[in-house]
Amino acid sequence: MKTCPYCGSEVVRKKRDAYSLGVWTCQLCVMKVNPVEDGARSNKFEIKQMISEDDCRLPLSELMTYHTFDLLLVLRILRQQRRENFDLMRTIKKADSPEYREGEQIAANEYELITRRMWAVENLLLERVGYIPEVISEKYLEKYLERMSEDKNHKPMQFKKSFKKSS
Ligand SMILES: [Zn+2]
Repeated sequence: MKTCPYCGSEVVRKKRDAYSLGVWTCQLCVMKVNPVEDGARSNKFEIKQMISEDDCRLPLSELMTYHTFDLLLVLRILRQQRRENFDLMRTIKKADSPEYREGEQIAANEYELITRRMWAVENLLLERVGYIPEVISEKYLEKYLERMSEDKNHKPMQFKKSFKKSS
């Protein structure tokens, strides 16, 4: 049975005419949905769990399709890059030598770029979870994965038949 991934109701396919494939619609949620089977829950964001520095340079529209867990990993890399860049800037400044002027400017530009990328990902997380995580430690990530694997996240949305009869 095709069901709604949000409320678990059976969904119907509405066809505009005999030739159209039609769109799956949930009557309770009153919207088009990508149906799932028999009350399964679904997360439209697929987890990668392997994030590299390349991911951090992707257009924001692409990062918007990332799982929240992966966005946490992206933010952690960006924060690390920002710290390293800040240290580099400080080292160049300390040297205070004319031949480093150009390098100082390049490092400053890079610092602004990384900071803005970091802000963008922070705001994606703000939209998703309602706050910007302060420290993304190993422990924080472990806990996050643990919560994701909890049964309630995967339990199908089904009524027992006997329950339905007696009510
Ligand atoms: Zn629904």
